[in-house]
Amino acid sequence: MTTTDSADVLIVGGGIIGCLTAYYLSQRGLSAIVIEADGIASGASGTSAGWLTPYSHKNDRAMLALSPTTLRLHAELAETLPALTGIDHGYQPAPYLRCAITEDGVAELLAFQSQRASESVVMEWLSGEEARAMSPWITANIIGALRSDNEPTVDSYRLTMSAFQAAEMGGARMIFGRVVGLISPGDGVATGVRMENGSEAHGDAVVLAMGPWSGAAAKWLDHPVPVTPQRGELVYLAAPGEGDGPELDIGLNLVEDGSSILRKRLSDTIVGVSKEYVGFDRSTTIGARDELLINAARLSRRVEMASISGQTACLRPISADGRAYVGLVPGWDAVYLATGHSGEGIHYGPVTADAIAGLISDGICEHDIAPLSPTRTSTTNV
Ligand SMILES: Cc1cc2nc3c(=O)[nH]c(=O)nc-3n(C[C@H](O)[C@H](O)[C@H](O)COP(=O)(O)OP(=O)(O)OC[C@H]3O[C@@H](n4cnc5c(N)ncnc54)[C@H](O)[C@@H]3O)c2cc1C
Repeated sequence: MTTTDSADVLIVGGGIIGCLTAYYLSQRGLSAIVIEADGIASGASGTSAGWLTPYSHKNDRAMLALSPTTLRLHAELAETLPALTGIDHGYQPAPYLRCAITEDGVAELLAFQSQRASESVVMEWLSGEEARAMSPWITANIIGALRSDNEPTVDSYRLTMSAFQAAEMGGARMIFGRVVGLISPGDGVATGVRMENGSEAHGDAVVLAMGPWSGAAAKWLDHPVPVTPQRGELVYLAAPGEGDGPELDIGLNLVEDGSSILRKRLSDTIVGVSKEYVGFDRSTTIGARDELLINAARLSRRVEMASISGQTACLRPISADGRAYVGLVPGWDAVYLATGHSGEGIHYGPVTADAIAGLISDGICEHDIAPLSPTRTSTTNV
């Protein structure tokens, strides 16, 4: 049976980007329908590490410039969303140490520190002993570390669910279904979207927030959307039993190979993360699990004592040039792209969503997203 539905704005994709966009639109008095092929937060937004950092992928200048704003919005959401929905999404500011085990690693971290200082981001240098004074579990391998106090963590599944629930309270709705095309009378006007089951939804604006599946929209738009999936696996570690000593209550990262350990407030500790190009395959693998654990054990003695409580795999939406695509699609009146955030979509979710909601409701955006415009894909080879 085919049905039709309508709202001010149609959002394709119920990940962090789509759900926060629905929330910020609802705050501006606009109704939204989130159209989702699987489930809210069923993609990477539900299984990410939830680390609010701009440094996990490429340190793209245009993205970095948005980092203070998105951190401020995250801090606001940590107040407003739980008050609205009753869902604690585990926002936690905590120290994070980038560690080195070689002199080359130390040099890399010191260069990183001075680059951050030039952006007015202060990170303190610690000797290995000073690092171990913060956490006794840090191994003797570590010869130096850079301390950061401005990279909180969240539970990204709860954040996405909470954003959608808050949007629903403001009038948003969700439709299950896979979008297969735009409804357009021509001249760059879209009046709605078509779904695989023959249903239609109509709206004045369309936001495409399809994560790693965004490339499918290229043929609807007749415009390149160079986003590809990259699999990332995480292993969850349950703390050893009571009496086995203090918890590891800081985040750790090894600069030499990128392995990391994140202590979360609402879930077991995360060890991650792998980067694999295997298409849309979301299987977990023994190979990634073993490599992640072996590398993480070089950071913390706690790893060898813990038990494995879970393993997940999900897909990052990788853009061709390492920068997200956010803004109006060239040649279209009211069709927007909000995708390609690679390994930083949870971090940049709020600023992206607020920017798109502002563009749709007021025609202007208070954040500098001009460098993220999808116009640059016109010259990208895909
Ligand atoms: C292992 C791992 C760890 C990560 N850790 C971090 C981290 O610590 N910090 C951070 O900031 N980022 C992290 N990321 C990246 C982050 O998870 C992503 O950038 C972010 O979740 C992308 O959100 P999204 O809304 O764009 O896409 P998704 O979460 O993938 O959501 C897209 C949604 O669109 C739906 N969809 C797709 N096509 C259609 C269609 N045609 N019709 C209807 N629905 C459709 C999908 O079903 C999906 O639910 C991590 C990623 C991985 C893989």
